[in-house]
Formats: sequence, C-alpha cells, structure tokens
Amino acid sequence: MRALKQETLPAEFTPQVHLNPTIREMARSATLAINERSAQLIREGHDIIRLGFGQSPFPIPPLVVDELRANAHQRDYLPVKGLPALRSAICEYFTRTEGLEYLPENVLVGPGTKELIFLLQLVYQGDLVIPAPSWVSYAPQAHLIGRPVFWLSTDVDTGLRVTPEALEMHCRSDPERPRLLIINYPGNPTGGSYSHIELQEIAEVAQRYRILVLSDEIYSGTDFDNNHVSIARYYPEGTIISNGLSKWCNAGGWRLGAFVFPQSLSWLVEAMAVVASETYSSVSAPVQYAAIKAFRFDPAIDEYLKRTRLIMQALMGYTYNALKAVGAELAEPKGGFYVFPNFSCGQKNLGALGINDSVNLCERILEDTGVATLPGVVFGQPETELSARVACVDFDGGKALEAVSETPGDSVPDKAFLETHCQPTVDGVDRLCDWFRRMAA
Ligand code: PMP
Repeated sequence: MRALKQETLPAEFTPQVHLNPTIREMARSATLAINERSAQLIREGHDIIRLGFGQSPFPIPPLVVDELRANAHQRDYLPVKGLPALRSAICEYFTRTEGLEYLPENVLVGPGTKELIFLLQLVYQGDLVIPAPSWVSYAPQAHLIGRPVFWLSTDVDTGLRVTPEALEMHCRSDPERPRLLIINYPGNPTGGSYSHIELQEIAEVAQRYRILVLSDEIYSGTDFDNNHVSIARYYPEGTIISNGLSKWCNAGGWRLGAFVFPQSLSWLVEAMAVVASETYSSVSAPVQYAAIKAFRFDPAIDEYLKRTRLIMQALMGYTYNALKAVGAELAEPKGGFYVFPNFSCGQKNLGALGINDSVNLCERILEDTGVATLPGVVFGQPETELSARVACVDFDGGKALEAVSETPGDSVPDKAFLETHCQPTVDGVDRLCDWFRRMAA
C-alpha cells in the first residue's frame, strides 16, 4: 500500500460541525501554557528558572516504583470504581490519617482528581462556589458545562481563605439553592491551610445551607507540620474528600486520584461511576496495583514524606520571608509548593513602567529576570491585582532528599542547605525579590 502524502490532500478542509462556541472562547490551561513557554525559552538558550508550573520536584518513593514494575503485566480492565484492594487501601488511609471510616464501595478512583472534579461538576447540578484565589481548573470546568461560578472574596489578613462570614453572606440571599463549595488546603496557589476552628465554622455554615463540599486535599501529605485535618471530620455527611498520588507521592504523570464519599452521598458516587463507565472506563491497571503500596502504611514512605516536608518547609519559609522583606503581601505557606505574593505596594512605580496587571507583571518578570511565574488573574483575582503564583519546584528533589538524609535529626534544613540543594529555585526567588526592590524603589 502506498503512503498517503499530505500534499495530495486539499489545502483546507472545513468540516460541517463547528467547534463548540464555549470551547472556542476558552484559552488552554494557563499552567500548561507557561510550562511550554518556559521550555521554549530554554530551548532557545535562555537561562529560565521555572517557578510557573506546579509539578513536585521529588521522585516517587522507590518502593512504589518497584510495585509498578512488578505489575507491568496487569492487563485487564479493572472495575469502574477502581480495584477493590486499592479502594480498601484508600479507606485504610483515611482511617489512619483522619480517623474517618469509609466503605470501599463509596470510593471512586479516577485518572487524576482533575477528571473526577470535572465529573462531579457534570453530575451534581449546583452553583460552583470557590474562593478567589483558587486553583486554575475549577472555574473553567464549570464554564465548559455552563454552570454558574461564584467567587468568594478573601483577605490577606485571613490568609486568602474562605471565611464562614463570606460563605454565609453568599448563601443567605437564596438559601435553598444547590451549591458545590470547593475548598483546597494546603492550598494552590496560596500554600495556606485552615485551623480546626476555621474548618468547624465553615462546616457549620455548609451544614446549615446543605451545601455539598468537595474538600480538595491533594496536598494533605505535604502539610509541613504533618497536621492536616479534613473538614469531613466536622461535616461528614456532606463532604467528599479528594486526594491522589500527584502531590505527596509525586506521581502526577501516573494519573491516579480518588474521591471518598460518605454513605449519605452513595447516590452521587453511583451517578459519577455511570459517567466514568461511559468515558474513561477505569484507571490504568498497573498504576492501580502500585497505588495500593502508596496508600498503605509503610515506615519507608513515612520517612520519605517526612524528609520531603522538611525540605519544603525550609524552602517555603525562606521564600515567604524574602518576599515579605521586600514588601510583598502574602499568606504564610503551611504546606505544598506555592506562595502567592501581591506586589500592589509597588503599584505606583510599576504602573509608571507600564505594569498594570498580573499578566504584564509576570511577562516583565520573565523577560527581566528569567523567572517564570503565573499571573494572579488565572486564579480568579482581579486583572489589575499585581499578584503572581510562585511554585518553588525548580530543583533536583532526588538529590535534596539524599542530602537531607545525611543531616542529623529532624531539624529543618538551613539556608546553606537550600543554597546548595534547592537551586535554581533559591536563585529565582532572590532574582524576583531583587527585581521588585529595584522596580518599586
Ligand atoms: N487540585 C489542585 C489544587 C491541584 O493543584 C491539582 C494539580 N495541579 C489538582 C487538583 C489535580 O491533580 P491531579 O489531576 O493530578 O490529581
């Protein structure tokens, strides 16, 4: 058979079916776009520090990788909700970490939590309520299926978190409306977390208005103090917990996430499973077998997590202090990889240089310093707010982990450690701070 050559085809072809107008209006996810843009600049020979895309810097725990290798032969399609042994391991995980009991039939395993969040929004017909700032994909997913989105305003004094007052104010005008509230902590983009009391107060409002809560706890295992608490402890009947392998297990590319539902929401897991069965069918079998290892208790994984937390606690503390010292306003990070500085105190001088919005701000930072960050507007902040997300992930996490194993005890690594083992991130933070000091002076 002769190969079909491109030049033999018509130059242009307009099919009868046109692109869905909702999708035509939407840009590609800003996080992926910045990653590609920085990669392109690197290919062109520029010295770029990638603090834009939020991928964990650490390797996957070796025993989880070994388990994947040992299961490469697993070839069967698995049950839509996930491998029963994995769903049991996920239930054990929540009993161990949160003291919460779930039934394996109320666990839904999916190809990343991003897909599960989308399925939830598709299946549950309610307004999406999220704080500003929030992770980049919640709102675009709602737009894709025509759901209204309501942003709750936040304050840097309350750590850019949802307050019970803001939620109450939002619900009061139409108390019976079905709503889905998504909260995420440790948070992307702020790195912030909630105290027990704050969670309790939000839970009370949610309960009063019978709001469905999705607690996006994908960064739970990165909480610096290892003190993560789920809001499901205070509102078990109305909360779904979202977690997965992408952040604490550093296996984002494996695409495995899970939702756990209380028995009171079993109707919802069944509805989502119907859509899952008509779309992705099931998550890759070898990955599911390997994930059992990740969710079950293992002292080696515990030790590994402890070390990743120590490194990130030191690095995020350094970053927070450096940005604060130059006058940026930001919430103190409690976990994860991110901070979300607001440079509005330099608004006048930055404005005089033509920097009037967050996109402008990040473009100028990239151009002048080679540091890639993400503009605040993609997290739902007003266009003109001079904020950016800084992801402290551009360093060799494997080497840093080895080095931290050699330092005595459980002490948080010092600045010398960061300067040696967390480059180029530390350099990027310094460049960013110097830039702002010069620009805003
Ligand atoms: N929620 C938050 C807050 C995230 O930062 C991410 C990944 N960047 C996700 C959900 C989705 O993660 P995944 O699809 O890899 O489970």
